[in-house]
Amino acid sequence: MDDTPVEKIIRSRRRTIALVITPDGHLIVRAPLKAPAALINTFVKEKSGWIKKKIGEIKQRPAATVHAYEEGETFLYLGRVYPLHIVKSENGAIERTDRLCVCRSLLPDIRNRLKRWYMEEARKEIHARCMWFSMMTGYNPTSIRITDARQRWGSCTHKGGLNFSWRLIQAPLEIVDYVIVHELVHLRQPDHSKKFWAKVKEMMPDYEQQREWLRENERLLRI
Ligand SMILES: [Zn+2]
Repeated sequence: MDDTPVEKIIRSRRRTIALVITPDGHLIVRAPLKAPAALINTFVKEKSGWIKKKIGEIKQRPAATVHAYEEGETFLYLGRVYPLHIVKSENGAIERTDRLCVCRSLLPDIRNRLKRWYMEEARKEIHARCMWFSMMTGYNPTSIRITDARQRWGSCTHKGGLNFSWRLIQAPLEIVDYVIVHELVHLRQPDHSKKFWAKVKEMMPDYEQQREWLRENERLLRI
């Protein structure tokens, strides 16, 4: 079998060589400024077993969702699957029943319209969950905002506000809750120290499962 080709070598003022596998399964090498190419090659060869294993794991993960926005295509909301249903009316509505019903007149701009709908739903749902956990913990965010972030599910500002990506609302509720708890704890503990994880665990004893779910399924949360 051939070795995995190196996608990119990033040189910097570092002292060791490190390998990074990107979320789409590419190999990136981080190397010291003057590390000879032969040394890098040897390093990559020695690690080829590990590289293949990691890339294999990534290929096992669900593929990114690509939508053509056609009747019957599935969309996620709080972890449940809803088939898209194009409704023959002109009222411009999007409604979630056992299907995701979208008025035909929205079709030319359906991606944006759906995104706006998700953002609105995320605002209500995430706000309510956040208030609940805030009450349970006594950690009070100064604001709660819904963002368009692609990879960062949640973040907190130095003014004590919390941001959440609308994409999160596609994940099951316990995943949404985990991200909320994670960000709330950051209000008291800005780093990812042992103390931070201990506080997260106190509020959500099985948080590691939710973390793992996010890592494995992030590609499902694109529309
Ligand atoms: Zn964090």
